[in-house]
Amino acid sequence: MDKKQVWDAVLQRMAEKISRMEFHTWFKKVRISKISGEAVVLSCPTEMNKNWLETKYHGMLLQNLKAILPEIDKLFFDVDLSLADSPTTSPEVFEDKKTKAPRKLPNRPDVKLNGDLESRIIHHKFTLENFVVGDETRLAHSACVAVSECGTKEKKKYNPLFVYGGVGLGKTHLLQGTANEILRRNSNAVIVYTTAERFMNEIVKSIRERNTDRFRKKYRRVDALIIDDVQFFEGKEKTQEELFNTFNDLFEFNKHIIFAADRPPADLVGISDRLRSRMGWGLSVDVQMPGYETRLAILQEKSKELGLILPNDVQEFIAANVRKSLRELENILNQVSAEVELSQLSPTVQSVGKMFRKLNPHDELQTVDGAKAGYAKTPDEIITAISDHFQVPATELLGNSRKQEFVYPRQIAWLLCKDLLRMSHEAIGKDFGGKNHTTIMHGVRKISDLKRKDSATARHIHALKKDLGVK
Ligand code: ADP
Ligand code: MG
Repeated sequence: MDKKQVWDAVLQRMAEKISRMEFHTWFKKVRISKISGEAVVLSCPTEMNKNWLETKYHGMLLQNLKAILPEIDKLFFDVDLSLADSPTTSPEVFEDKKTKAPRKLPNRPDVKLNGDLESRIIHHKFTLENFVVGDETRLAHSACVAVSECGTKEKKKYNPLFVYGGVGLGKTHLLQGTANEILRRNSNAVIVYTTAERFMNEIVKSIRERNTDRFRKKYRRVDALIIDDVQFFEGKEKTQEELFNTFNDLFEFNKHIIFAADRPPADLVGISDRLRSRMGWGLSVDVQMPGYETRLAILQEKSKELGLILPNDVQEFIAANVRKSLRELENILNQVSAEVELSQLSPTVQSVGKMFRKLNPHDELQTVDGAKAGYAKTPDEIITAISDHFQVPATELLGNSRKQEFVYPRQIAWLLCKDLLRMSHEAIGKDFGGKNHTTIMHGVRKISDLKRKDSATARHIHALKKDLGVK
């Protein structure tokens, strides 16, 4: 038996005890890297993965290894970063067996999840299993799984967990998925999911009605407190104080606390130092816009949920053109679903193209080939890359300073947005602090000229494209 066969056999034996999600999160990129004498070494793609297997599955793994190779008596773990990019060679037992029959199309497109209206509700539709994991979200997803697997008695890892990233990148999905997973494992768990805004409204109301005690009791008897969009707490001192006290109590009693925000804790300016520092005590993980392949996988998952069957070219076209937020993807799918129902015609690249044009009138449509070639970065990624490369703050790239040290990298950013993202001058101007499209046009033209005449500029652009992973 070679190492791979042994590992597959171990996984086969464990299939009864671990869920498909656990497998996908913790096992699918793990390999046996060495079998020698009585010892086996398991290599994991990340430090976190290693720690998790070591603390949670050591016994189970060793026992199953022994069942296959009786001489084995010791199990070691190490980290091999290259495994993160390795293909999954999963035993069939973990393949998705549920092939859901397409549901009837809904009569109306889903109402968009509106944070204000539904901020208390834990939606069953958001699970950690139907969250499609890509490189951009792998760590955040693993952290959420780790948190949900933590039993009530154990010392909490990653406490608090802080998930941050831009709009529509899956933060709420992850938080709610974590809540659902905790409840699935322990139906008695008391979990409060709320948004920062609602948390504040509740405090204000309890002060007005003079029953702050009830408020405090409610929040201090939870097993896990999950607060979404905490950037909303900026500048709300009274609410911060209440949260600070709640945090301390929960933390002391070893309860899990999870936050999400559009920025990392350190960038939350209007939040008191003591609260901000606590927010960063545990693990902070970011989510970013997934690349083309992952977007395609998300689209397929969402179409399945909607019972919508789309031609391949339409799927690819949508995945190529959703570039800023996955809400755009939902929005388009809902529109497609409604149109299919009304017209009873299958959607085409052309009809979907029209929807995109309506949604983002200034953006040029992206080709599937361009997206596959890795062109589908976001303006944010371009700004970050340029800010790193030239060592200038991102705010200056978006700002209006006329200093040459800022103007030059700023104009390069515009050129890259134009070339790589196929953005129009209007769209670039809008994203760069509301500039006129003629300003952008001149800047882009200037850098295009320089690129031909000046080798330093050409080299910068080449290096930046490389940084951005553009092939
Ligand atoms: P955020 O809270 O970051 O603004 P949401 O969690 O509301 O974003 O995500 C927007 C939509 O995109 C939701 O419908 C969510 O289910 C979907 N979504 C985002 N990321 C993923 C993913 N990786 N897999 C599946 N669906 C996703
Ligand atoms: Mg959200």
